[in-house]
Amino acid sequence: MSLLPDAKPANYRPDTDNAREEVERPDTSAISWQKELAEAIRTPEDLLATLDLTESDVPEEISGQNSGFPMLVPRSFVRRMKEGDPHDPLLRQVLPVMDERETVAGFVRDAVGDQASRAAPGLLHKYRGRALLVAAGSCAIHCRYCFRREYPYGQEPRAMHEWDDAIHKLSQDASISEVILSGGDPLMLPDNRLAQLVRRIDAIDHICRIRFHTRLPVVLPSRITSEFRSLCNGLRSQPIMVIHANHTNEVASDCQDTLREMVSWRMPVLNQSVLLRGINDTADAQINLSQALIDIGVMPYYLHQLDRVKGTAHFEVSIETARHIIQTMRTKLPGYAVPQLVQEIPGELSKTPLQIL
Ligand SMILES: *Cc1c(COP(=O)(O)O)cnc(C)c1O
Ligand code: SF4
Repeated sequence: MSLLPDAKPANYRPDTDNAREEVERPDTSAISWQKELAEAIRTPEDLLATLDLTESDVPEEISGQNSGFPMLVPRSFVRRMKEGDPHDPLLRQVLPVMDERETVAGFVRDAVGDQASRAAPGLLHKYRGRALLVAAGSCAIHCRYCFRREYPYGQEPRAMHEWDDAIHKLSQDASISEVILSGGDPLMLPDNRLAQLVRRIDAIDHICRIRFHTRLPVVLPSRITSEFRSLCNGLRSQPIMVIHANHTNEVASDCQDTLREMVSWRMPVLNQSVLLRGINDTADAQINLSQALIDIGVMPYYLHQLDRVKGTAHFEVSIETARHIIQTMRTKLPGYAVPQLVQEIPGELSKTPLQIL
């Protein structure tokens, strides 16, 4: 949910509406994660108090009323933060600060050219062979550096029939062999609705792989239900899971258990992360993250150079630092544990590698 207040379309609905809708359509498996989501922390004051901190402990000025992209963080994620530490790397991913309101040259609403690649409502087609569905317009957490924090989710499908156009396009284009469910977070859909959408894609003969891009196994591990397992196990296409964790402290406790469980489903589980100033911008931080992942069978995939989206400039790390981190990782880790350092440049035929070979 990431529109500025003045840009909200008539059908804009805050993430809480998802929970309401799901209560109207009971899905017993979903009740516990939805309840957990309803109990997520939504104000900086609550978050800081939970961590035994006050605003004066935090070096930056906190941004309280952030109506376009309000604070949102599930308690499971908060439990992995260190009490009393205003520099906690998980806290800094979610705490809204005044820096977000600065206008910085080069930081724009649609830094990755999503709108230019929109082939149908909810369907982004940038790269040969794979197409991406904006399957849900909300997330369980609001990452302050989000590359789609300005995405106009209100224009994308919600009801099943609104997907007809996108599904038709996919079925007519035999060059597409992989569909990526993204968002927002596709796992914000309750299991029954997610299954309906995924089965429509799975029914298209030339689709060989269905990929989920989701942060929920990390931020709300209880979302990984037995119904979701059945969905993945029952597909004709090969499921591929791409999670999103940025720091080793995220890959702990209930998240770690859930990731181990998903790895046991005999599908690839990959991680992508974003290089973030003050959070994971050292070689040690990245090495620790990679080790935590490979030790449970999750393979590092991409390390993204920050997309230059309005309001995120304070998270940017220089490309030189990014390259240095990757070179150091190469000298200390097995080759498979070093993610590909990439940037998304609009108009390019793939994500652009930034590593010097
Ligand atoms: C990143 C992205 C993909 C996936 O790219 P891969 O390199 O295959 O991971 C696909 N479609 C869109 C629109 C994307 O932004
Ligand atoms: S989970 Fe992804 S899409 Fe959602 S707020 Fe975070 S970065 Fe943005």
